[in-house]
Amino acid sequence: MICPKCEYEYVEGIKECPDCGTPLVTREEFEGHLLHPEDWVVVYTCSDNIEAEMYKANLESADIETLILSQKDRNYPTVGDLAVIKILVKRDDAESALEIIRDINSRAQNTEEEGDEE
Ligand SMILES: [Zn+2]
Repeated sequence: MICPKCEYEYVEGIKECPDCGTPLVTREEFEGHLLHPEDWVVVYTCSDNIEAEMYKANLESADIETLILSQKDRNYPTVGDLAVIKILVKRDDAESALEIIRDINSRAQNTEEEGDEE
């Protein structure tokens, strides 16, 4: 259960947010709410959390507010580890975000041969 206002997650059984009194919604509803019209758009999906965090870090360093939604959740019966991770940005930022992502991808292709550091 999540407060759509504070974006805090609460354990099951709690019906409204102790902070602001807003009725809590399920994660699904919350994500649906975020995916809805006005604000957030999905600019990229992947199945690797590390990859997603990498994109997020890059977007945020460009001052783009970024949100990662993962369906890797025990409420979602997923096959193996194949969870979809969505990267969302505000609609206004979508274009610049896509440019950054494209840039990352082309760089990644160029350096692929050299392998990953870590
Ligand atoms: Zn709240």
